[in-house]
Amino acid sequence: MPESKRLFFAIELPAPVQRKIVRWRAEHFPSEAGRPVAAANLHLTLAFLGDVSVEKQRALAAQAGRITQPEFTLQLDDAGQWLRSRVVWLGTRQPPRGLLQLANMLRAQAARSGCHQSPQPFHPHVTLLRDAGQAVAIPPPGFQWAFPVKEFALYESVFARGRTRYTPLQRWTLGNTQRNSDEV
Ligand code: ATP
Ligand code: MG
Repeated sequence: MPESKRLFFAIELPAPVQRKIVRWRAEHFPSEAGRPVAAANLHLTLAFLGDVSVEKQRALAAQAGRITQPEFTLQLDDAGQWLRSRVVWLGTRQPPRGLLQLANMLRAQAARSGCHQSPQPFHPHVTLLRDAGQAVAIPPPGFQWAFPVKEFALYESVFARGRTRYTPLQRWTLGNTQRNSDEV
């Protein structure tokens, strides 16, 4: 069978923001509320690609490198729960235009390359708890975590020994018309 990887494009959260989120989560959610996502795994998915061959990965990376979008500020000022997908999430009340455009482009490129895309509209969010099948009280967002987003990345997701790990494979800088992919 040809080699394939489970891939997605995402925005990485700065480590200090990840730590603050984890502290807030520990204060506000009981342990039975759901399975907490590890601090280093907290991210915002832009486009999910699924299992992708090396060849298709190369084509998707080349297309991602042609995207020119300005930097933007992401403000995590919203929280909620989706019972259907059993997640508790953080989000943003007013998604910046740059974020929506970036995600739409990556999703359109993925669809054109044959990666099945969910028909649901893009809801930018950071998953905090998984397997949260029972309604939990979502504390009012008393936080204002804002950070500049200057790049996005292609991640590989690997499930091994009972846990999921994400590895960044390649990064692209925003706000720069020069082509600037970094292999990592
Ligand atoms: P696990 O499934 O092992 O509990 P995970 O959901 O974080 O962990 P993946 O399933 O590999 O790991 O997903 C990687 C990222 O892509 C996550 O942000 C996940 O929410 C998102 N994702 C997964 N499947 C889809 C899908 N079908 N449509 C949109 N986004 C998806
Ligand atoms: Mg999953």
